[in-house]
Amino acid sequence: MGVEQLSALELGQKIKDKEITAMEAVQACFQVMDEKEPDIHAYIQADREAAMEQARHVQQGIMEGKYTSPLAGVPVAVKDNICTKNTATTCASRILENYVPPYDAHVVERLKAAGAVILGKTNMDEFAMGSTTETSAMGVTKNPRNTEHVPGGSSGGSCAAVAADEAFAALGSDTGGSIRQPSAYCGVVGMKPTYGMVSRYGLIAYASSLDQIGPVGKNVYDCGALLELISGPDLKDSTCCAQGPLDLSRLWQRRGQSLEAVAQGLKGLRIGIPEEYFSGGIDPTVRAAVLNAARTMKEGGAQVEYFSLDMVDYMIPAYYIIACAQASSNLARFDGVKYGYRADQTQDLHDMYKKTRAEGFGWEVKKRILLGSFVLSSGYYDAYYIKALKANRKIKEAFDQAFEKYDMILAPAAPTPAPKLGTSLTDPLKMYLSDIYTVAVNLAGLPAISLPCAVTGEGLPIGLQLLGQRFHDAAVIEAGAAYEALRGDWKALRADVKDASVGGKEAL
Ligand code: GLN
Repeated sequence: MGVEQLSALELGQKIKDKEITAMEAVQACFQVMDEKEPDIHAYIQADREAAMEQARHVQQGIMEGKYTSPLAGVPVAVKDNICTKNTATTCASRILENYVPPYDAHVVERLKAAGAVILGKTNMDEFAMGSTTETSAMGVTKNPRNTEHVPGGSSGGSCAAVAADEAFAALGSDTGGSIRQPSAYCGVVGMKPTYGMVSRYGLIAYASSLDQIGPVGKNVYDCGALLELISGPDLKDSTCCAQGPLDLSRLWQRRGQSLEAVAQGLKGLRIGIPEEYFSGGIDPTVRAAVLNAARTMKEGGAQVEYFSLDMVDYMIPAYYIIACAQASSNLARFDGVKYGYRADQTQDLHDMYKKTRAEGFGWEVKKRILLGSFVLSSGYYDAYYIKALKANRKIKEAFDQAFEKYDMILAPAAPTPAPKLGTSLTDPLKMYLSDIYTVAVNLAGLPAISLPCAVTGEGLPIGLQLLGQRFHDAAVIEAGAAYEALRGDWKALRADVKDASVGGKEAL
């Protein structure tokens, strides 16, 4: 097995044991990039020399015993909407093409302090708006499992990089599913932490009340280790209200014992499945795969049952109104004065604003700024924005009610496996509807992990989600790790459409 195939924690251990150096690990990633990047294009920028320089520095520190993190020396990738000091941060937009932040995002500071090595910045939908990474102004990313298909989005680059072994782990951001859905499409593990668990300082805002940075890894352990590292309070983000960093000591203890001990994480867990999620537009292979996973969890000692979740029909409309409203306000700062691109040959100030924004933003971003400005305009504010906020409140309450009865909610990550490249943007409504299983998690501020549970005949992974109560991130990760231990290799689990012939609420 090549170095690049190790998990992040396995690599970290080998670096600690002096079997591999951080430089060798970085070299391994760049070797894979040399081979695969021309086809995959997971990165907007990856600077071999800069990464090697960092690796040498970290390796020196490791030799001197300066680092205690299990991820010291491990190369990771960072989504290009997370600020990196002296390294361009573009949000995959022309308007920020030449923007070089003078500071590191809080999470990047944390990575550096722990001795993780930053390989580069990953591709994404422009300003994180999209579900396929096709709205990037820097070109599309392809799904490493099947290059005719999209990697999902908006953190498509981060998930593709991890799936292709071009990074050992990565950071993404999730406003309405952008970590969980591409993780499902690419067959990696991704987590959206509780809102307030991770500082958003240095994350270029899309919709501030929904945005959250989170980890992408090859397995649940790697995701957990990365989240432990980046989570916890930060005075620079007043919404970051975590009491302390995530505490996964129980999981690490069980992991040190045996796989069986990890699988104990499901014993006695009350898991609810929203029945509304299994009717309507769900692909039969996805339904079959997720319900099979539910059976595995039941065999592992969980109590699994269906329940009815209120407000499902309102999740997509409420999300898109709130997200676009906040985006229109957040993106007002890109005006050619303070940051990035400025159009030339303009007549006056207003002309400069107009041309800069017309030339700098792509179509999807403009569409959302228009929609957002519309729902915030005085004549429509009550009818749309206020109504969406009321729906948001009710969606939150529906989840709170469910969590009175259940410890965890099980759901698909997306209604279908990854669509073919070029098919989604032609039908935007359909693309928006495909966020049905992810957006409510952000509206309610909950933690949720997405992990693979099967693969289709075309080699496309299928993902499931486990949702927990606010600040129960550790419980979500423990349950995910338990399922992962029971599941074994997901690539061996072929999604069988025939299983789903019953449809709807199949028996568990
Ligand atoms: N697909 C959703 C959107 O386009 C989610 C994006 C995200 O989470 N950043 O808004």
